[in-house]
Amino acid sequence: MATRPTILDPLFSPITTLNGVGPKVALKMGKLFYFLKPEQDVRILDILLHMPINLIDRRNQPGIAMAEDGQIVTLKVIIDEHRPPPRGNRRVPYKIAAHDESGTITLVFFHSHGDYLLKQMPLDSLRYISGKIEIFDGFPQITHPDHILDEEAFGKMPLVETIYPMTAGLSPKTLSKSIRASLELIPEFDEWIDKAIIGREKWPDFKTALEFTHTPPDSKSFGQESPSWLRLAYDELLASQLALALVREKVRRVKGIEKTGTGHLKRLIIDALPFDLTCAQERAIAEIEGDMASKVRMVRLLQGDVGAGKTVIGLMAMVRANESGFQSALMAPTELLARQHYKTIKPLADAAGLNVAILTGREKGQERRDILEGLEEGTIHMVAGTHALFQESAIFKKLGLVIIDEQHRFGVQQRLALSNKGQATDLLAMTATPIPRTLVMTYFGDMDVSRLADKPKGRLPIETRTISLDRLADVASRIKDAIEDGKKAYWVCPLVEENEELNFTAAEERFQSLYSLLGDKVALVHGQMPAEEKEKAMQRFQKGDARLLVATTVIEVGVDVPDATIMVIEHAERFGLAQLHQLRGRVGRGQEQSTCLLLYKGPLGETSRARLQIMKDSEDGFLIAEEDLRLRGEGDLLGTKQSGIPGFKIADLTLHAHLLELARDDAKLFLTKDPALASPRGKALRNLLYIFDRADAIRLLRAG
Ligand code: ADP
Ligand code: MG
Repeated sequence: MATRPTILDPLFSPITTLNGVGPKVALKMGKLFYFLKPEQDVRILDILLHMPINLIDRRNQPGIAMAEDGQIVTLKVIIDEHRPPPRGNRRVPYKIAAHDESGTITLVFFHSHGDYLLKQMPLDSLRYISGKIEIFDGFPQITHPDHILDEEAFGKMPLVETIYPMTAGLSPKTLSKSIRASLELIPEFDEWIDKAIIGREKWPDFKTALEFTHTPPDSKSFGQESPSWLRLAYDELLASQLALALVREKVRRVKGIEKTGTGHLKRLIIDALPFDLTCAQERAIAEIEGDMASKVRMVRLLQGDVGAGKTVIGLMAMVRANESGFQSALMAPTELLARQHYKTIKPLADAAGLNVAILTGREKGQERRDILEGLEEGTIHMVAGTHALFQESAIFKKLGLVIIDEQHRFGVQQRLALSNKGQATDLLAMTATPIPRTLVMTYFGDMDVSRLADKPKGRLPIETRTISLDRLADVASRIKDAIEDGKKAYWVCPLVEENEELNFTAAEERFQSLYSLLGDKVALVHGQMPAEEKEKAMQRFQKGDARLLVATTVIEVGVDVPDATIMVIEHAERFGLAQLHQLRGRVGRGQEQSTCLLLYKGPLGETSRARLQIMKDSEDGFLIAEEDLRLRGEGDLLGTKQSGIPGFKIADLTLHAHLLELARDDAKLFLTKDPALASPRGKALRNLLYIFDRADAIRLLRAG
C-alpha cells in the first residue's frame, strides 16, 4: 500500500481530536455519512466534505406577515405564551406563541422539555428566531427553529450561516463549530487542477472553496452553482476519472493474447439456435471478436435492455475463446441467475461438443472437487457461476475470458481481481441497466462500450396501465381469470425500505391472500429463501405447474420465462424507474401480447405521477433512465447504496455533467504526459485521490 503523504494527516485525523468533540458526538456525526463503515471513525475530512443544504441570511428579516411558506427567515419577536402538551401525551407538540409588529407566529417543538424552553424563551422576552416558515391552516409557524437568540447573542452571530442535513441528537451548533474548527486545519495544497482550466473558470483554490462553502460571505457565494461548489464538484469528478483512467492504463499495460478463433464451433451454435441473430447482436459480436483478436486486452461493457438477448452474445464470446484454446467463465450476481445461464447455454454448448459446468456455493463435496479438477485440467471449457468462481480454490488451466453479468454490482477493484485469475484475460461485462451516457463515463470510464439498441424482432409492445391499490380485489380477480385462461403472471411485492426482512413479510402475506384465491397455482420466491427452494419455485413457474409467481425484487435481474405475459407491481410508486423497467422487462419476451399493471397508492405527488406516466409512455430503457436521472438524481439509479459503489458527495450529475466530461478529458490527457503521477502536478493529484477516497488507484502505479 502506498503511504499517504503527511501533508494530509490533519484531514485524516479523527474528529475527536477537535476540542469539544467527544466519542458520543463523533458517533452521532458518524450517522451523517452512509459511506463510512460502522467501525470507521469520522475524520476531519468527512465533515469538511459534508455539504450544507441551505443558508440562513440574517439580513432576510421580512417580518411575520411577509414571510412566505418554505422561506428561511429570521424574525425579531416577543414571546407571548407557552402552551405545553396535555400531560402524558407526548405526541402533541409543545407550542409557543409570539408576535412582531406585523403578525403572530407559532413555534412548534416535539418531545421537548418545557423547563428548558421556558428558560430559553421567557414570557415577554425579545428573541431572534431563525428557521423555515411553514404556513399551516393559514397560520405561519416554525417547527424546531434553527436558532433562538437574544439580542446580545444575535449581535455575535454571522449574518450569513449555512444549514446542514442533520441527524437526530446532533445539535446544529456543535456541527457548525466543528466544521469551523476543521476549516482552520486545511493545509495549503499545491494546485492539482490544470492551470488553464482553473484560470478560465475563475475557481478559488481548494481551501478557499471549502471556506466559502461553509462560511459564505454572502448568499450569492453559496449554492451548487457557485464557483466554490463547482470547483469542489470538479475535484471530486477529477478524482474519480483519474482513478478510472489509472485502472484502464493498468489493464491495457498487460498485453492481451490474440484469439482469432476458427469459426467452426460458432457455426454449429448458430445452426442450433432456434432464432436468427438480430443486427444489433451481430454487431456486438463483431465488436467483441475484434477485441479478442487484437493484441490489446478486451475490457468491454455490453449494455442492452432487458430481453435484448445478451446471453447468446456472451456465449459467442466464450465459443471464440474456446476455438482459440481458452477456457471462459461467466459470473452472475445470484445463484438463480447463474443456474438460468447454465440452462440456456448447456444445450447449445452440447451441440458444439463443449463441456459446460456450473459452480456456486451449492456444489459441494465430490461434485465440487470434480468441477475444480475439471477447471484445473482444462476438461471443462466454460463455467457459469457466482462469486464462488473466483475464490482462491478455483484454478483454471487456461482462462482466457471472464464475463460478468449485471456488471454494475461489481466495483472497479473486483473487476481487477477477476481478470487477474488468468493471464491477460479478456473481460466482458454485461448489464441490462440502461445507463445514461454520463453515468457510463462516471463508473465505467475505463471500458469500451457496445450497446444493443433493438430487441429481437416480433416482440409486441407491452401494454402498461396504472391502477389504484384501492382496486386490488378487482386486479386479483382479473388475474384469476387470466390464469384460468392459461396465462402466466408475476406479482411483485412492495419494497419496504431497504430491508429484506420486511420485504419478505410483505411478499409472504400477499402470497397467502392470493393462495386462498388460486390455491397451488401460486408460487413464492424471495431473497430469504434457501436457494434450492427458490429454484424449485422458479421451476414450477417455468414448467407451468404454478401460474402466478409472487416475488420480491429477486426476479428483477435476468429471469427469463418467455411465456409469462402479465406483470403486476404493487406499490409501483416506491420503485425506481430503472427498477420498474427491469421488472416490466420480465414480460413481453414471447410472441404474445403482454400487460404490465402498476398498482399505486394514491394520492400521488407530482414527481411520482410524472414517473409512472413515463412508464406508461415509453418502453425505451435509455430514455427511461435519462428521465429517472433527471427526476431523481443519480443516487439510486445504479443501486449504489446497496452495491457499495461510492456515490458522489459533492457533484450532482444532473447539474454538473459538463464538469464530468472536462474531468475525463483532463485526466486522460494528463496521464499521457505523466503516467506515474511523478511531476509536481502529478504529486498534487495524488493528494486529490486520497481526499476523495480513490487512493486505491495509486497502488496500481506500482503493481505490474
Ligand atoms: P437479456 O439481454 O435480458 O439477458 P436474454 O439473453 O435472457 O436477454 O434473452 C431474452 C430472450 O430472448 C431469451 O428467451 C432468448 O432466447 C431470446 N432471444 C435472444 N436473441 C434472440 C433473437 N435474435 N431472436 C429471438 N429471440 C431471441
Ligand atoms: Mg441476462
